[in-house]
Amino acid sequence: MAKAWIPFLEGRYSPTLDMWPIEAKEFNRIHEFYENLREGKFTTTKCKQCGRVAYPPRVICPECYSDELEWIELPKKGKAAVVVEKWGGVPICYEPPLIDAWIDLGKDSPVKHILSRMINCPPETLKEGDEVQLVVFDVPAHPIELKKETKTVERVFFAFEPVKK
Ligand SMILES: [Zn+2]
Repeated sequence: MAKAWIPFLEGRYSPTLDMWPIEAKEFNRIHEFYENLREGKFTTTKCKQCGRVAYPPRVICPECYSDELEWIELPKKGKAAVVVEKWGGVPICYEPPLIDAWIDLGKDSPVKHILSRMINCPPETLKEGDEVQLVVFDVPAHPIELKKETKTVERVFFAFEPVKK
């Protein structure tokens, strides 16, 4: 449910941090990333030509420029390797601190580390080495103009949260 013109969700989501604000498949060639998220899968792209795995997902391989990519699953759990709490310069819509973690997805993961927002995470509680997991949540629907018609795009976004001990 849209609460405001600029969507924000109690400190979980801000359009200023959204890498791909328009998720509709007509506008976004990585929309499958969101469809997978909706099913609880955390995915990225792998090049069918050279095998390079890229994160965030791409439409063209950064190694060989092929556009023949496939979707592969990433682990949904990892360990916080570095935790950063930002108390200053926090984007509009957020109460400080904004917590980011450099997450170690493990040596068997095709992507070893990712950077993610942390939510459901009180300040000064997340420590290096703590287990974290993917969390997917709805984002207010986004209106788009498509062939002179307005279409509403249902949206999801993701972050990570601490695994309860
Ligand atoms: Zn490639």
